[in-house]
Amino acid sequence: MSRGCRTKTRVRREDPKPSRRQETLKATSESVQAAHRRAQEYFLSMIEGPVEPQVFVAKAKYINPQVYNDVVVERAVAGLCGYPMCSNTFTDTYGSRSYVIRNNILYDITERRNFCSNVCYEASELVYEQVLTLPLYLRDTEDADIKDICLPNLAKLKGCHGKVMDITGGIGNIKIDKDEKPKRRTAFMSVDEIARESLVNWSESDAEKNAHDKNSHKSDCDVKEKETSKCESKENTKEEAAANQLADVLNEESSFHQLHDK
Ligand SMILES: [Zn+2]
Repeated sequence: MSRGCRTKTRVRREDPKPSRRQETLKATSESVQAAHRRAQEYFLSMIEGPVEPQVFVAKAKYINPQVYNDVVVERAVAGLCGYPMCSNTFTDTYGSRSYVIRNNILYDITERRNFCSNVCYEASELVYEQVLTLPLYLRDTEDADIKDICLPNLAKLKGCHGKVMDITGGIGNIKIDKDEKPKRRTAFMSVDEIARESLVNWSESDAEKNAHDKNSHKSDCDVKEKETSKCESKENTKEEAAANQLADVLNEESSFHQLHDK
């Protein structure tokens, strides 16, 4: 007995042609990966020893601030100064401290401790501010405006102890007017002093009030005088009108008498 076997005809589907959007996405993801690989390569080349300034300037165009920070930290962990162009080795002398006080100013030394000196720290901060934040995969495009990083002259830098911390709650930023008279601030005041001060305040405020009352009284008087003068002028006009009326009557009477006499 033979069974009929069905033969499946396998039709191979052809892969659909990628759309333009997919092609663009693929190209973008490839360029992103290439840009990250390049940044990773430059990162590795900067953590092994001192970097020549020209080489650093050329490579720094293709890293971002995050990569630069990683370079600083990795160098410090290996005992190298965090500033890529420095050839010094160093040991962390700050111990477990996070802050130091120099000249009555509090500094955060979290980042400063990655460098051999204050000068290298300041130089690194100046370089860090110039590192581009533009996405890495856009660094090769024609539109990208990429400028060379200006490396600072270490001989001209004074150095920085760390990041300045403001512990005054913003009071340190308030500008003090030198012409303003200093207000009296005493921690303790005796009863006599309080009474004297309140009397002085009261007499000052009372004098001001009196002056104000006088001025207001004066202005009231002026208004009243004006009103009375207005009334008088009104009365005058009334009297004049009455006199004129009387004169008219008299004139009429005299003319009547003259006619009668005739
Ligand atoms: Zn250094």
